[in-house]
Amino acid sequence: MMAETTNMIDVTINKDVLVIGSGAPGVEAAEAVAGKGYKVVLVDGAEGPSSVSGDIEVMANTRVESLAGLTGDFRTCLANGSGSSERTFGAIVVAPRYGLTPLNEAYGLALDDKVVSMTRMEELLDDPAFKENLAQGEKTVAFLSGFGQEGDPAATGRVLEAALAVQQLGNSRAYIYANNVKVGARGLERLFTQGRNEGVVCFKPLEKPAIEQGGTLKIVINDPVVREDVVLEPDYIVVEEQVVPGRENLDLAETLRIDTDLDGFIPSNNVHRFPANSNREGIFVACQPADAANVALRVADLLVDGVWTVAKNAAVVDENKCAICLTCYRCCPHGAIFWENGVAAISPVACQGCGICASECPMDAIQIGDFTDDSLKADIEGAVESISDTPSIVAFCCQNSAFEAGEAAKAFDAELPKGFRMVEVPCAGKVDVEFIMKAFVEGADGVMVAACHEGNCKAERGNTFAKWRVAEVQKRLEDMGLNKDRLIFTTVASNMAEEFSVKIREFAKQL
Ligand code: SF4
Ligand code: SF4
Repeated sequence: MMAETTNMIDVTINKDVLVIGSGAPGVEAAEAVAGKGYKVVLVDGAEGPSSVSGDIEVMANTRVESLAGLTGDFRTCLANGSGSSERTFGAIVVAPRYGLTPLNEAYGLALDDKVVSMTRMEELLDDPAFKENLAQGEKTVAFLSGFGQEGDPAATGRVLEAALAVQQLGNSRAYIYANNVKVGARGLERLFTQGRNEGVVCFKPLEKPAIEQGGTLKIVINDPVVREDVVLEPDYIVVEEQVVPGRENLDLAETLRIDTDLDGFIPSNNVHRFPANSNREGIFVACQPADAANVALRVADLLVDGVWTVAKNAAVVDENKCAICLTCYRCCPHGAIFWENGVAAISPVACQGCGICASECPMDAIQIGDFTDDSLKADIEGAVESISDTPSIVAFCCQNSAFEAGEAAKAFDAELPKGFRMVEVPCAGKVDVEFIMKAFVEGADGVMVAACHEGNCKAERGNTFAKWRVAEVQKRLEDMGLNKDRLIFTTVASNMAEEFSVKIREFAKQL
């Protein structure tokens, strides 16, 4: 339900929250959100958690079968062995599950009962018989870390805890072979110091250790100080593990229409976004227990007391022009488009105003609040008209990156070509073919489209759409017998004023 005030709009939103995944990050996020006074439903495809506190309804062995609706009004179908139910939520928190893969092959090792993964060693250290055997037998356990992959604090913490547990068992001894010990997380420095004080030996060889597995285990490293080989014959070798996305990640991402990174992890990396946010407003991600407080704050920011006040004109569809082609629905990176009265409509809560939909709509049925087609055309005309020097260059600059770099370049680079003008756009994805052609028709010698770097677009794919359109116009220029190099596509971050200057100067020289 929406109630209008001046140029803003009050949108009533549901205050219930769905948390998906009941591992430690999911449980902590659910408890933190419930602690803010919101009703929470916690679902998990497997067994639920052993205990939770707060106003939390747990649905074990339940999956999210489908998701419709939008931010503040997400309509889900939750299915389990006894059927399915429709539930509506204002916000969703995803706590993705991860798997672990041992990196034994990186060391040329095969797993057996003496060469084991980190997970296996953790299991063994829970087994009283194994611990007794270590304690009585004066056994030696060697941990390998950071040679199969770049070390990280979570992996380091597991190694330090297990090594300390071994060291504390009677006469057993723990050795760590680490490439890069990362102790930059809470408690790790203390754990490292405790391990060292209790006798855990840590080697940091320059090269990956040479390891023999047949018969007696043997690890050889070269001591960089005395330049001599140091040989250890451990009873057990423990290999590090790589974190991999849970198998269900991709299915869940598809159902929720949220992006993953190239390796399938949720969320995708995006420097423009708060860490807990996904590409869809109202869907948050808790990757580790430490994310819970941040996620709860983001949820509370969104849901507040059930009413959200937003600009009503972020993006608007002219329903008389809409031909229901679904293009906007398919290309919106934020899942902000739905259907109302038989035509496309845009949620002012979910829309981020990037303008990709407006540029792709074949009917020109969509206008973006402060960046309407008419206002952008007027900007292009004004930019070209104001140039008296040659070559004249119009640069369409994304307001999230290139525009800021361009403003800084203008302020600090006295050598910037005099015929250069910027046209600010909400995202490079708003620069359509018509605008580029208009700049040439108005008399620009050269046109540049400047977007965020690949993988860093605030709208995920706005830079990709812009690149495609530039290639299309370059082809048209060629077909018309014109020099296609009068149009270039480039990427620049907001703090790259110097690089921006260089690009403009080189482009001017080329023209
Ligand atoms: S792209 Fe344009 S014509 Fe197609 S559904 Fe969206 S608003 Fe309608
Ligand atoms: S402007 Fe961007 S976020 Fe808003 S509906 Fe269009 S494509 Fe989606």
